[in-house]
Amino acid sequence: MTESVTNWAGNITFAAGEPHRPRSLDALRDLVAGSARVRVLGSGHSFNGIAEPGEDGVLLSLGALPPGIDVDTTARTVRVGGGVRYAELAREVHRHGLALANMASLPHISVAGSVATGTHGSGVGNGPLASSVRAVDLVTADGSAVTLARGDERFGGAVTSLGALGVVTALTLDLEPAFEVEQYVFTELPLEGLDAAVFEAVMSAAYSVSLFTDWRAPGFGQVWVKRRTDQPLPDFPWALPATEKMHPVPGMPAVNCTEQFGVPGPWHERLPHFRAEFTPSSGAELQSEYLLPRGSAIGVLRALDAVRENVAPVLRTCEVRTVAADDQWLGPAYGRDTVAVHFTWVEDTRTVLPVVTRVEEALAPFGARPHWGKVFTTPAAELRARYPRLHDFRALVRDLDPAGTFTNVFVRDVLGD
Ligand SMILES: Cc1cc2nc3c(=O)[nH]c(=O)nc-3n(C[C@H](O)[C@H](O)[C@H](O)COP(=O)(O)OP(=O)(O)OC[C@H]3O[C@@H](n4cnc5c(N)ncnc54)[C@H](O)[C@@H]3O)c2cc1C
Repeated sequence: MTESVTNWAGNITFAAGEPHRPRSLDALRDLVAGSARVRVLGSGHSFNGIAEPGEDGVLLSLGALPPGIDVDTTARTVRVGGGVRYAELAREVHRHGLALANMASLPHISVAGSVATGTHGSGVGNGPLASSVRAVDLVTADGSAVTLARGDERFGGAVTSLGALGVVTALTLDLEPAFEVEQYVFTELPLEGLDAAVFEAVMSAAYSVSLFTDWRAPGFGQVWVKRRTDQPLPDFPWALPATEKMHPVPGMPAVNCTEQFGVPGPWHERLPHFRAEFTPSSGAELQSEYLLPRGSAIGVLRALDAVRENVAPVLRTCEVRTVAADDQWLGPAYGRDTVAVHFTWVEDTRTVLPVVTRVEEALAPFGARPHWGKVFTTPAAELRARYPRLHDFRALVRDLDPAGTFTNVFVRDVLGD
């Protein structure tokens, strides 16, 4: 009996079964051109059916293609293959004395899959990972190659595309000179006294700041502060420095986490919370996340505090981050500086889903946009109303993929066609 193919979390089993793994670009083109329904599987770190092509479809992995990481030190860009993960990319970029502007909490995820879902790190001045992308190389449904680059009027739909336009065979990303980062963890930041001005000051105290709470009490047990060493030392009067190395999920070993206590290190070994060689997060979990206007942050936190008795029993940890406004039409940070509230849940879908709905009800007045790669129950019609450029994205899908080869159930719901 063949083993079933699941996502990283194990809560989604792909009906399409084993992914096809073409070994060359020509083989990939032939496979796509000869298939009625195709979806690419990146590193499988999404928590919903976004990558599922359906029983009769082709699940495609780019893992057997030559990886292709070409750094241009003069232009300060890198062209990276559609199957490459951030850990591999970051090491190569750093070897050339260059850096990506930001990273997510873990380096294990593929670049193409991450930018397709609007994945982000933290930082009041840092856009989502998609904002580093300058060009997208696609193989479309008939097997032809199309490049959409910054400046093209269709580029707004090209990066955070939910995988609906074609196979992303390569991405070109902006780089900057390599930098070092020091990471500090503080403990016990109370919610009481956190007004809009203090929240802004806390989240702006360094290049990247994250708050963590288990919502068992109204406050944040941990604050992770990542300072670039080329920027001023953070003044952090709001909480006490940690006295031991911490993991954001209570009970998990801190050895899995990137270095703390202000030990300087390269950007790619400090910006993620989790080290590439260890299991990220808890490993047995579901996740949800909502992106909301940053100006509403205090209202959002108070609304969550009001439902914390529902949330806490099924929560491992909740992380609050900031994301600078993005111009990708389906980017959850599209057009607004954002506060992102993330939930790592226990791995029991049945008990978690009603709580997810409860959280969504609490956050609905703020126009919450769910992370495309995580668990949500928001009705599709409500989602559509929260994306003012959805009609442009729909037109782009019709233009590049008229037969809907890359449209699965998840994408059809979002498009509402
Ligand atoms: C432990 C953990 C921590 C996380 N931390 C963060 C975080 O800090 N910040 C955050 O924002 N998110 C986070 N996430 C969510 C994660 O970043 C997203 O789910 C992301 O999409 C994962 O990338 P992937 O390659 O695994 O994508 P997959 O789940 O494999 O795919 C996602 C989508 O991208 C498409 N896709 C993938 N590759 C291609 C390609 N080459 N061409 C066309 N389409 C493609 C797929 O079809 C699918 O639609 C986390 C997830 C986990 C499991």
